[in-house]
Amino acid sequence: MTQHHAAGTRRRSTSLRASFTAAPNGKNGTARTTSLVTGGAGFIGGHLVEHLLAQGHHVIAIDNLSTGNPATVERIDHPEFQFVHGSILDEPLVDELVSQVDQVFHLAAAVGVQLVIAESFESLRTNVRGTEIILESARRHGARSLIASTSEVYGKNAACPLSETTDRILGSPAVRRWSYAQAKALDETMAYLYHTDLNSPTVVARLFNVAGPRQTGRYGMVIPRFVGQALRGEPLTVFGGGQQTRSFCHVLDVVAALAALIDSSAAYGQVFNIGRPQEVSIRYLAERVITLTDSLSTIQDIPYDEAYGPGFEDTERRVPDVTRAREVIGFDPQLTLDDIIMNVVAEQREHMLALEPVSIEAVPATDRVEAEYVG
Ligand code: UDP
Repeated sequence: MTQHHAAGTRRRSTSLRASFTAAPNGKNGTARTTSLVTGGAGFIGGHLVEHLLAQGHHVIAIDNLSTGNPATVERIDHPEFQFVHGSILDEPLVDELVSQVDQVFHLAAAVGVQLVIAESFESLRTNVRGTEIILESARRHGARSLIASTSEVYGKNAACPLSETTDRILGSPAVRRWSYAQAKALDETMAYLYHTDLNSPTVVARLFNVAGPRQTGRYGMVIPRFVGQALRGEPLTVFGGGQQTRSFCHVLDVVAALAALIDSSAAYGQVFNIGRPQEVSIRYLAERVITLTDSLSTIQDIPYDEAYGPGFEDTERRVPDVTRAREVIGFDPQLTLDDIIMNVVAEQREHMLALEPVSIEAVPATDRVEAEYVG
C-alpha cells in the first residue's frame, strides 16, 4: 500500500501523480480498471476496497479517518492499493484523484444515527457538499460514479416492502435525525440530474442496514453492540420497546452488489435498493444474539429519549423490495442474519482473546461524536 497524507501542498500532487504513472495500468493505459473509493477506511469502504482488488482493479481510497479506522487500510498489503489521507471537501485533491480513475464509489459520509444527531451540521456539510464535489469532478473527468445512499431516505414510512418508488415520509426538519435523510435524498437527486441533464453516468445504491465484521458499535450500530454486550455478559440494551424492525444484509453481499452496479450500464440513472429482505424485530435480534452466543445476558429496555435524547423519532419498519436489483444485476444476497451474527461473534471473540479492547460501549448521550454505514 502506498500512503499519502493530503497536506494541501503542490508536492502532494506531484507525488500522487508519480505513483500513478508508475502504476502498471492507469486510466488511459491498459484494460485494468482504476477505482476511487471515498470513505475507503470505513466499514463498507474497506470491504469494497478488498473486493475490487480481488477483481484486479487498481484502487485508491480516500478517507479523513474521522470515523474510518486506520487499521482497515493498514491491513491491506497490496501493490495495487493506494491510500490517501484527506477530505472529500478538499476539492483540488478530489479533482486530482478523480482525474486518474475510471470510476468512483462515493461512500464517504457521516453515518450512524448517534453521530448525525451529535454532529448534525458537519454531517450535513459532508453529505451534501462532499457529494457535489465528487459528482462534479466525475463529470469533468468522464468517470462513472456510484453514490451510496441509505434507507433512511424513506423516513418514517413503514410500508412493507419499500420499493425505490415508495414515497418518503419525514418528520420535521427540526428533528436532527432527519437531516441525514434530507442530505442523502438531495445526493440522489443530484446524481440523477448529473446523469440525465449533464450526461455523466451515475448510479445510486440505497443501502438498508448493513452489518458484518469490522463494523463498530460506537455510533449506535445495533449488531456489534448486542454481540459485544452478550459476550461480556452485560444486558443487551433494546431501545424503544424493540418492536421496530430492520432487515440486515451482510457487508460482503453489499460490496459485491456495488461493484456489479457500477459495471452495469443498464443501472445508470437509476436508484437501487440494496438489502436482504428478512425482517426481524430488534427484540428478536437481541434474543437471537443471546442464543447464538450462549450468553447469560438479559435484555434491558431503554426508552428512546434516554438512548438518543429528547424528541427522537425512529423508523418502525424497514424492509427492502430488491426486485430492481435482482433484475438488473441478479442481486441475491446469500448470507443470513445468523451468518452475520456468527461472523461478528468470531471477530469480537478474537479481539477479546488478543486482550484488545473492542470499542462497543454505549456512548453517553452527552458525549457522542462519528461515521460509517449508510443504512
Ligand atoms: N438499537 C437498540 N439498541 C442499541 C442500538 C440500536 O435497540 O444498542 C436499535 C435502534 O434504536 C434502531 C435499531 O436498533 O431501532 C437499528 O439501529 P442502528 O443504529 O443499527 O440502525 P438504524 O437506526 O440506522 O436502522
